[in-house]
Amino acid sequence: MHTTHEVFNQPSPLVDYNLYETNRPLQDALRFNAPQLDTAALSRLGAAVGTAGMQNHARLANVHTPQLHSHDRQGRRIDQVEFHPSYHALMTAAVGAGLHGTAWAASVAPTPDESPHVQRAAGFMLFTELEPSMLCPISMSYAATPALRRNAAVYADWGPKLTSRDYDPVLKPVAQKAGVTMGMGMTEKQGGSDVRANTSQAQPDGSDAWGARYRLTGHKWFFSAPMCDAFLVLAQAPAGLSCFFLPRVLPDGTLNALYIQRLKDKLGNKANASAEVEFVQAAAWLVGEEGRGVPQILEMGTMTRLDCALGTSGLMRQALALALNHSRQRLAFGKPLIEQELMRNVLADLALESEAATALAIRLARAFDRAGDTHEQLMARLLTPVAKFWICKRGAGFAQEAMECLGGNGYVEEGGEGVLARIYREMPVNSIWEGAGNIMALDLLRALRKGDVAGALAHELEPARGQHAALDRLARSLPLRVEAMASETEARRLAQDVALAAQAALLAQTAPPSVYAAFCDSRLGGDWGQTYGSLGSGCDFAAILARAMPN
Ligand SMILES: Cc1cc2nc3c(=O)[nH]c(=O)nc-3n(C[C@H](O)[C@H](O)[C@H](O)COP(=O)(O)OP(=O)(O)OC[C@H]3O[C@@H](n4cnc5c(N)ncnc54)[C@H](O)[C@@H]3O)c2cc1C
Repeated sequence: MHTTHEVFNQPSPLVDYNLYETNRPLQDALRFNAPQLDTAALSRLGAAVGTAGMQNHARLANVHTPQLHSHDRQGRRIDQVEFHPSYHALMTAAVGAGLHGTAWAASVAPTPDESPHVQRAAGFMLFTELEPSMLCPISMSYAATPALRRNAAVYADWGPKLTSRDYDPVLKPVAQKAGVTMGMGMTEKQGGSDVRANTSQAQPDGSDAWGARYRLTGHKWFFSAPMCDAFLVLAQAPAGLSCFFLPRVLPDGTLNALYIQRLKDKLGNKANASAEVEFVQAAAWLVGEEGRGVPQILEMGTMTRLDCALGTSGLMRQALALALNHSRQRLAFGKPLIEQELMRNVLADLALESEAATALAIRLARAFDRAGDTHEQLMARLLTPVAKFWICKRGAGFAQEAMECLGGNGYVEEGGEGVLARIYREMPVNSIWEGAGNIMALDLLRALRKGDVAGALAHELEPARGQHAALDRLARSLPLRVEAMASETEARRLAQDVALAAQAALLAQTAPPSVYAAFCDSRLGGDWGQTYGSLGSGCDFAAILARAMPN
């Protein structure tokens, strides 16, 4: 008999814990941004997504990736994507938790007691910790509503199904569906950022109960979650680039002429299907005005950009939790890794980054709950590109460092801690899709032209005044730089500095002094190196780590 030696000094996995109840930075961000919020549902969700059963669904949905069936066995086109049952289990849970369109059901203008978007943002962040890639259609379904309202007839039929908590994956006419999901199609081969270069054509084809109908011919090079029930797509109409509502199944039950060419073979984001598609005279209905397609679809893009910031914040939190769980149990050189001074520095530095990301992403979500308030409108416009740019840019490096905390096991896909390898492969996508880094930095420059942004930023930073010299210096200089409207060359630096100032000002109001001081000293005061784990020795490492612990 060949037996292996005894396995010891290998940490037990992080499982069966409540992701909400153990996430103090998230709880404090909610207390600050939505003080009246009843968090019982988030606590239930936090418990559900921490179970071994759900973690197994996440693993299986990533191992058994979606399969395209373009034709049936008799040669008819069916254009269906088959998913593993675990994918459907995850979708059922996410839709059941209301992470797709449910926030829009609350009311058009939530009262100060209601915070449906903050609540949904926190839920989205928690679910991301379990499995981010199937959240792509969940996010797009959430994001579609503001744009879809521009076609009242379509919205009347589809709106209630978008807010339903029933997941119904079967392709059939909307009238027969318990709930629906939606996607978006902008990117074409010749241009993704530059959507005005779209070549897909839209020919007018009369009108019906859903308004002006068109026939779309063309292609989309990236078209995620093609099993969604409908999509908002861009195509060139006689008056210019326009936004269209394109359902997969037409009201008479026939399949629309959307053909899936193939599924992308991606670095990560494995559970989600991302397709290349062609439209051949596909039926679609105008949303908003002809020729106003870009601003129209950007109403959707704004919400998905919020989700990129939320998603990366959730992934950071999960990567940190796994690193803490490992280093608390793993012994090296006679004591747990978490008691080694240099490892404490790495973990504390990651904890600061994770908490700052959570604070900024949840604060941004608040702007969508208070959309009637002028200051919040300016913050939504300013902080959307800033948070999407900065948080997502920080994601990949963060994941690498967290993975390294686990040593070689971090790089291995298998089992519970293989989640870190999955997170590492997932991280870059939030920075690329929905407007890559440069596009976000350039969008910040556009945002500076909308109203008194400099004044709004000064107002936002005001509560932290006088608490840290480095933040005071930055806060004084930023409104001047904003007013001067930086050149394109400086746009990334400006986005970074606005993000850091906003994060610091939020931490001043939501985090303990240990976290706030270490964040400002390192990120604003220059007491920092160029990798994680280079905080100054004056930091209160014990307090920072105790706050970050996942259990
Ligand atoms: C997994 C995945 C799923 C996706 N799903 C969808 C989907 O469902 N629907 C959809 O429509 N799209 C989808 N996309 C596409 C995605 O949104 C685009 O890839 C992205 O917007 C970038 O467009 P592009 O690939 O054409 O790159 P390009 O536009 O060619 O950009 C390349 C680089 O150039 C930079 N750049 C562009 N213009 C400028 C400029 N003026 N100044 C400085 N830098 C610039 C960009 O920041 C980027 O870094 C998906 C992408 C991925 C990876």
